[in-house]
Amino acid sequence: MMEQAPEPVSDSLAHLFRELPSVHELLIAEPIQILLRSYARGQIVQACRTHLEVLRMEIALGNHSRDGLKNRIAELPSAIEKELRKQRLYSLRPVINATGVLLHTNLGRALLSREAMQHVTDIACGYCNLEFDLETGARGKRDIHTESLLLDVLQSKAGVGRLGETYRALIVNNCAAAAFLALHALAKGQEVLVSRGELVEIGGGFRIPEILQASGAVLREVGTTNRTRIADYERAITPNSALILRVHQSNFSMQGFVERPGLEGLMELGRRLNVPVFHDQGTGLVESLDSYGISGESTIVSSIRAQCDLIAASGDKLFGGPQCGILLGTQPMIDRIRQNPLFRTYRVDKLGYAALEATLHQYLENASGLPVLKMLATSVEEIGRRCLGITEQVSKQDLTAEVVEVASVLGGGTAPTARVRSCAISLKHCGLNSDELVRVLRGLDPPVIGRIEGGRVLLDLRTVDPASDSYLARELRRIAAEEPRNLPPGRNG
Ligand SMILES: *Cc1c(COP(=O)(O)O)cnc(C)c1O
Repeated sequence: MMEQAPEPVSDSLAHLFRELPSVHELLIAEPIQILLRSYARGQIVQACRTHLEVLRMEIALGNHSRDGLKNRIAELPSAIEKELRKQRLYSLRPVINATGVLLHTNLGRALLSREAMQHVTDIACGYCNLEFDLETGARGKRDIHTESLLLDVLQSKAGVGRLGETYRALIVNNCAAAAFLALHALAKGQEVLVSRGELVEIGGGFRIPEILQASGAVLREVGTTNRTRIADYERAITPNSALILRVHQSNFSMQGFVERPGLEGLMELGRRLNVPVFHDQGTGLVESLDSYGISGESTIVSSIRAQCDLIAASGDKLFGGPQCGILLGTQPMIDRIRQNPLFRTYRVDKLGYAALEATLHQYLENASGLPVLKMLATSVEEIGRRCLGITEQVSKQDLTAEVVEVASVLGGGTAPTARVRSCAISLKHCGLNSDELVRVLRGLDPPVIGRIEGGRVLLDLRTVDPASDSYLARELRRIAAEEPRNLPPGRNG
């Protein structure tokens, strides 16, 4: 005789499956009805289907008891809402830069000022006179919104007379585009002289020899890697020389047995042999940073004073504006660049012009109010006080937080050797190693980006808006109080 068989597995599974609501039943449930106010019906239906499908699979795998399943079903609306909210997150999100790198290319380089943002918003959300002359009602040029303003700013900073009589200005998409376009328009099929010490890679694939080649210009290498003299340039000049190119050594420094001529020397040679000098200045730094304790940085103003024939600079590095490439040069050179058919392909949009125009206004009114310069000017004492204000609220057994002295850097391919004294919150967690702790910080909303040094996580507050201090303190307190495995995005995430 056989013993009575237990309820067949398929029967109990069938029971569990029957517990599942239908998509329709879910949709008419009150909590989901509320979601309909903020999300599209199709999106909600899809999320319901996905979640029910997951439960079905879990049941089939035998993962659910009856009570466990009931709980999961009860939690469905909140799980669905969480999923919908996640779907709505932008890919491009604000982050808190606690790396101490002021111009972090991966974190978007220079911050725009509130004034610049306001102007961008006003221009972006309505029509504007981008290429419309309000005087005559005829078609206008987009350049006019920034050209004379830029020349005014530089004239006043350089202390030179009537810059507009010698120079013109042009804005393109970025400095790499400015350099390429200038070489293409001015030196295609001709030679460009570059010191072997300046055949550099700026980062993100911008390599001077490759840009030169792509532009159609012919590279004429001059001097050696560590030493290049005026006489080397002079020997290399031929009737086919179109330009002398000087490239700012933006992201590295050479020390020891090194020599290269100053811009003035190059200009003197260029004048004498009738070869214009093009300075890829790069950083866009307008005036010296001496008052911030950083000396010897190349500036646009010094290139103007040297009467360089053409200058290219980035808008979103030390210039402190939007991404763009600024070309400043003699009228014949700028005219040739403007007339080149490729000029149109590097055109700046109305948002860029709006941001640049507002940034230039700020240069006239109060340059030290630009976010990059404001962060640079913050005293180490002030930053130390802010760090202390946070660590005092945080230190718990699991998370120790203390204030340490560090050095901030400018970054973004500018001033590679410049260091600015700063303070950081140094974090150590007894349940998480430093890699895991930076990952937890990255998982916050908004994410906090720190750096690891000597087995500790450092949060340099020089690059953090003081308005974010209370958020930082709150999140660090939470991390200190939380079991490590409950911390986002999880130890294996
Ligand atoms: C940064 C830099 C560039 C590239 O500028 P983007 O605005 O990033 O295109 C080119 N040349 C020099 C010298 C630079 O420093």
